[in-house]
Amino acid sequence: MDWRTQWRQLQRYFIELLKRSVPNRCIACHQSVDSGGSGICSVCLQAGLYQTPVCLGCGASMTELIRYCGQCQLSMPIKIIAPCSYHQGLGRWIAAIKYQRQFAVLEALTNALHQKIIQLANEDLLSMPQAIIPVPLHPKRQRKRGFNQAWLVAKPLSQQLGLPLLDTHLLRVQATKEQAGLDGKQRRQNLHGAFTLTQPLNVQRVAIVDDVVTTGTTVAEIAKLLARQGISSQVWCLARAEAPELL
Ligand SMILES: [Zn+2]
Ligand SMILES: [Zn+2]
Repeated sequence: MDWRTQWRQLQRYFIELLKRSVPNRCIACHQSVDSGGSGICSVCLQAGLYQTPVCLGCGASMTELIRYCGQCQLSMPIKIIAPCSYHQGLGRWIAAIKYQRQFAVLEALTNALHQKIIQLANEDLLSMPQAIIPVPLHPKRQRKRGFNQAWLVAKPLSQQLGLPLLDTHLLRVQATKEQAGLDGKQRRQNLHGAFTLTQPLNVQRVAIVDDVVTTGTTVAEIAKLLARQGISSQVWCLARAEAPELL
């Protein structure tokens, strides 16, 4: 058995373990959740999701479902698809996935993201990618944490959507500092040359998957690398942390 097969088995085992660790009470309101439900009740989940359409560029809330706000129409930034804002209730539980191994909202939010992707594709507001790439952690950090939260989001999406998961093609070659606490320029410097491709991707359109997108510096760095291979990117994440003035 080669290491990739072993690795996959280990990941499957981990996902199974993780599902069993999810509490059967809502993590937010502590009401019990129906069997088969996940660690958050539908009321708390719905309350934390976007209540209006949002601009796929900057996340500003909008009155109708269109691709970009007026501002973003001019610059056509990379599309970021998320079911909720990091600042509106669910953010702390998303942070708890990676910092406290508390996976209560993982499945519910991944499903909400899945629905959002389908809705936008049906409305012709995005074209489906041909493959999914989780943002990799540096191997050292992955060993320390034991899992890559972006991979945990990407894996079920690839199964639900029938898209290949390219999780060995992109490598993080620099152990960068945590982006939190750095300003825009420092974030870009911190990530410069942080990623590399191990092999050609042979696709034209991909979705880069991460747990949270804040300033978008990380995904922009990967998108730049892929653009040099003629590949266009969109971004899928559980939540986006918009600039405060957009809230
Ligand atoms: Zn609840
Ligand atoms: Zn916008």
